[in-house]
Amino acid sequence: MQTHVKPVTPETLAEGGALIRAGELVGMPTETVYGLGGNALDARAALRIFEAKGRPADNPLIVHVAAVEEVAPLVSAVPEAARRLMRAFWPGPMTLILPKAACIPAEVSAGLDTVGIRLPSSAAARGLIRAAGVPIAAPSGNRSGRPSPTTAAHMLEDMDGRIPLILDGGPCEVGLESSVIDATGEVPVILRPGGVTPEMVERLLGSVRVDEHVMSPLAEGDVVRSPGMKYKHYAPKAKTVIFDGAAERVIAAICARYDEAEAAGERPAILGFDEHDFGGRTRISLGSVKRPQDAAARLFGALRELDERGETVALCEAVEATGIGLAVMNRMARAAGFDIVQT
Ligand code: AMP
Ligand code: MG
Repeated sequence: MQTHVKPVTPETLAEGGALIRAGELVGMPTETVYGLGGNALDARAALRIFEAKGRPADNPLIVHVAAVEEVAPLVSAVPEAARRLMRAFWPGPMTLILPKAACIPAEVSAGLDTVGIRLPSSAAARGLIRAAGVPIAAPSGNRSGRPSPTTAAHMLEDMDGRIPLILDGGPCEVGLESSVIDATGEVPVILRPGGVTPEMVERLLGSVRVDEHVMSPLAEGDVVRSPGMKYKHYAPKAKTVIFDGAAERVIAAICARYDEAEAAGERPAILGFDEHDFGGRTRISLGSVKRPQDAAARLFGALRELDERGETVALCEAVEATGIGLAVMNRMARAAGFDIVQT
């Protein structure tokens, strides 16, 4: 199969919508990352998504809608806290876990009795959902285990020959996947941090929990509330280490480790901030240290760049794990297999 990459226009949205209605898959730009979209009400389309990604069958898909009114037929209840979250943060980078209705195939929810629903802010994503006339199930458009795609070119790297069409909507604004919030109970639980932060939820509702596995590895026998937590994610081929602490100590520790690696015949690279001086050593930019949203938007592209350049060791500056920084650290820690050096 040949994969076409086409810019988002009314014509290509109509073409994408028709493909999805016919049971095919389409690369969908959103404000978070590019998604691999298929008809959420069609079990066979869901199976195609798992196959194209190489995704474990027990990791459920997020269902995307174009308007709040489209949620009711997909779920069996909407608790009050969920309603308030929708009003405050939709359209936007937030997925709510709700009890599912019978029309959601078990293949989409991976056999769970809940389903993740999101109303994206991206006009291209909503245009595609409207053109399809059905809700769109879309996990991130990477092959399983790779960083999520934040450009159409990244998605083509992973999906070339596997799907007929990728709609190119330019680089993603947020650059990390949506916040996943379990809204089935009274107190919302953040299962995966993203652009809607724990601070924002707490300010709105007065309470929030962050699942303990957001910043700690799973131990044998731990119960997971979100299947995605179990899997190795975002790992570049380079051995990846994070350095946390005061900036001067972090910079010194990274430079020392870099020189050791180079002396040992490795190809090291630094994922670091523009304001910091690494004395001419190879650096892939995470943007400004003053704007953690830069690191969010750049991290996945930086992880892909490491592999493209054949780097064998990656030394990353940590960001403060508050606000969007928690989402950055959650992805970075997984990429590094939780290898974090306190300087
Ligand atoms: P992705 O589609 O790649 O953004 O991944 C979707 C994430 O949402 C995964 O980590 C899933 O485990 C999580 N997720 C989706 N549906 C549910 C659900 N019903 N309950 C808990 N987590 C979910
Ligand atoms: Mg994913």
